Amino acid sequence: MKFIVDVMLGKLAKWLRILGYDTLYKRDWEDDELIELARAEGRILLTADRELWRRRQGSHKIFISSDKWQEQLRELARVLPLDTEHLFTRCIECNLPLEQVSREEARGLVPPYVYATQEGFGRCPECGRIYWRGSHFAHALAEVRRLIGVGDEKGDGNGRREGEIEIKN
Ligand SMILES: [Zn+2]
Repeated sequence: MKFIVDVMLGKLAKWLRILGYDTLYKRDWEDDELIELARAEGRILLTADRELWRRRQGSHKIFISSDKWQEQLRELARVLPLDTEHLFTRCIECNLPLEQVSREEARGLVPPYVYATQEGFGRCPECGRIYWRGSHFAHALAEVRRLIGVGDEKGDGNGRREGEIEIKN
């Protein structure tokens, strides 16, 4: 599933990227551009704009009514089978899949305590941000799971799936 998201749903776009979904979002796209991109790339268009949603052109559109991202995600999960299988595999800023970075390579790129405590690192091929799983997003993650109705059974037993993502610029 790939998405394109209108300007009013920026936070939802960010969370879809955190979940690993290919999600296009830009502040200055016109409605026609959104519709055309959705059609050309087979993306589901998520919109908070009823008029846009009602337009006949384009393919799959979903109207999102809430103005809170949590509710928006919940709305979406009611109509689409969202999951957390690919959590933290995509750059939140650039929307590109992260490349794996070896521990050795990561050594000079992340703070020493991160290097010492983390095993897996990913890097955005576009902006170069390094991602890893830390601990402060545990709450957010648990919340996302709750919102989209996914349990904890896929955890690896040592809490790593509960981890957060941290960003180094
Ligand atoms: Zn990036």
